[in-house]
Amino acid sequence: MNLILLGPPGGGKGTQAKRLMNNHRLVQLSTGEMLRAAVSAGTEVGLKVKAIMDTGGLVSDDIMVAMIADRIAEPDCANGFILDGFPRTVDQAAALDAMLADKGLCMDHVIELKVDEAVLLDRIRTRIAETPEAERRADDNEETLKTRLAVYREQTAPIVPYYRNKGTLRSLDGMLPIDEVAAELEAVVAG
Ligand code: AMP
Repeated sequence: MNLILLGPPGGGKGTQAKRLMNNHRLVQLSTGEMLRAAVSAGTEVGLKVKAIMDTGGLVSDDIMVAMIADRIAEPDCANGFILDGFPRTVDQAAALDAMLADKGLCMDHVIELKVDEAVLLDRIRTRIAETPEAERRADDNEETLKTRLAVYREQTAPIVPYYRNKGTLRSLDGMLPIDEVAAELEAVVAG
């Protein structure tokens, strides 16, 4: 089973992906985490993307599509994977479709977690206040979050109608308590 979790930054995709991963023996592919690992390791890609990530912009589609193509070819993805943070542009979505078709794979579910922006800003303020400075992500600050939300609205939200037109999209209320969102997600994947 292959899934995409869609939704704005800070909207709970990562939390829900981890639960699904544990319940269904799926691999969580968080492109944000993969990029942060590349930055920490000082790889060629890491050096290229650090400044973009720190300001909340998007890394180029070429880099992202290559990164996901390599990752889903690894054996641990054979039982299925959850994409968390990818695709983030309509071009990435189209490239993903082509890549999957090539491998004889498909996405079984594309699930949007709908979240209110004002609530996200409140959540990030709380997270920043509760996290010691040394442990904070470089992009965990209010200014960058505002940029990331604007980028989501302009470049990522158009993916929602892209998948709706293909008939694979389900939208859930991401404002519900974590356990309730998790229960709704389980109902969707149970079919
Ligand atoms: P995230 O942890 O998913 O919020 O991602 C952190 C940052 O990594 C984003 O603000 C982007 O700069 C970058 N990033 C992650 N995934 C993608 C993607 N699919 N396309 C472009 N940039 C990405």
